[in-house]
Amino acid sequence: MTTQTVTSVPAYAAPAARAPLERTTISRRPVGEHDVLIEIKYAGICHSDIHQARDGWGEGTFPMVPGHEIAGIVAEVGPGVTGFAAGDRVGVGCMVDSCRTCDNCRAGLEQYCSDGPVYTYNSTDRGGETTLGGYSTHIVVDAAYTVRIPDALPLDAAAPLLCAGITLYSPLVHWKAGPGKKIAVVGLGGLGHMGVKIAHALGAEVTVLSQSLRKRDDGIRLGADHYYATSDDDTFKQLAGSFDLIISTVSAPLPLDRYLALLRTDGALVNVGAPEEPVSLNVFSLLAGRKTLAGSGIGGIRETQEMLDFCAEHGLAADIELIPADRINEAYERVLASDVRYRFVIDTATI
Ligand code: NAP
Ligand code: ZN
Ligand code: ZN
Repeated sequence: MTTQTVTSVPAYAAPAARAPLERTTISRRPVGEHDVLIEIKYAGICHSDIHQARDGWGEGTFPMVPGHEIAGIVAEVGPGVTGFAAGDRVGVGCMVDSCRTCDNCRAGLEQYCSDGPVYTYNSTDRGGETTLGGYSTHIVVDAAYTVRIPDALPLDAAAPLLCAGITLYSPLVHWKAGPGKKIAVVGLGGLGHMGVKIAHALGAEVTVLSQSLRKRDDGIRLGADHYYATSDDDTFKQLAGSFDLIISTVSAPLPLDRYLALLRTDGALVNVGAPEEPVSLNVFSLLAGRKTLAGSGIGGIRETQEMLDFCAEHGLAADIELIPADRINEAYERVLASDVRYRFVIDTATI
């Protein structure tokens, strides 16, 4: 396939905030010196897509083509690309560029670029164009922001690793999840189920804190040692002072004081969930027990590759429901209703 034939490609876009997504045609830039053209095979649906397509975080640009869990095959590379060749299995996550010169970029923490990274969609690239994401058949991305998907991972189930996988891997490694550590994952959705799998593979003792016991059997199968319902007040009495690390993947504001009380001395509550409204807490919840309240955003490019290699080595990928593109809007509703097991992935051949 040549560059000329793919500058115009099919995609699914939200024409306006909260409007249903619909099929459209978008333009992709010509393949530049350091670019790869990727034939997208699968695109995961992240809850962040829904926050943004509904403009829940504000400042959304429409029409918006969401999608930052991209898995596909390299179709063409620019003349300056050495690391990839046509036919390679590759992935693209939440970022497609960053300044490359600030301290964070140089440390491999491009997600914390001091200029702000260029996100895969709903962002402005260096040429001043609005980026358009992975709910599409092709994308042109700088090779430096492209990662390799190991052969051991199926492409469809690997797609969600590009956001859900790295977003849990990064804080689990940073806060040293491993043997002897008690970890709780709050919310068993797309991020949460990858958190359970990865924390278990790292050797930690894993507890799921879910709204109900509805998904208990799944949680245990995914690698959890314990499973509790947060709708039950006894859970908070029973588990007080238990955990070294709690990672909240909840997409809505969390009553932080209740969860901080579940930490041991020096424990950390890390938010990866990105609710649309602010949260508040009583600072005394942190003082007693020298506790940390933290956040974490995706992971750097090098760490994303490390995570994919770790998942391949441990046989980890997402539990997915593969859907045709005309079911995206229905999938959004199901995610909002916490009815996802555990990631919707779009078969882009149906766009
Ligand atoms: P998801 O699949 O919808 O999972 C979120 C889970 O949170 C739900 O399955 C549900 O689990 C629980 N939950 C939902 N609403 C709740 C409520 N009102 N109270 C308590 N629990 C609730 O979403 P996701 O794709 O995993 O994303 C989760 C959040 O992380 C979103 O806000 C997303 O934008 C954010 N995110 C952040 C990053 C980052 O870099 N920090 C990256 C990706 C996504 P149970 O049914 O088990 O209770
Ligand atoms: Zn995401
Ligand atoms: Zn930077």
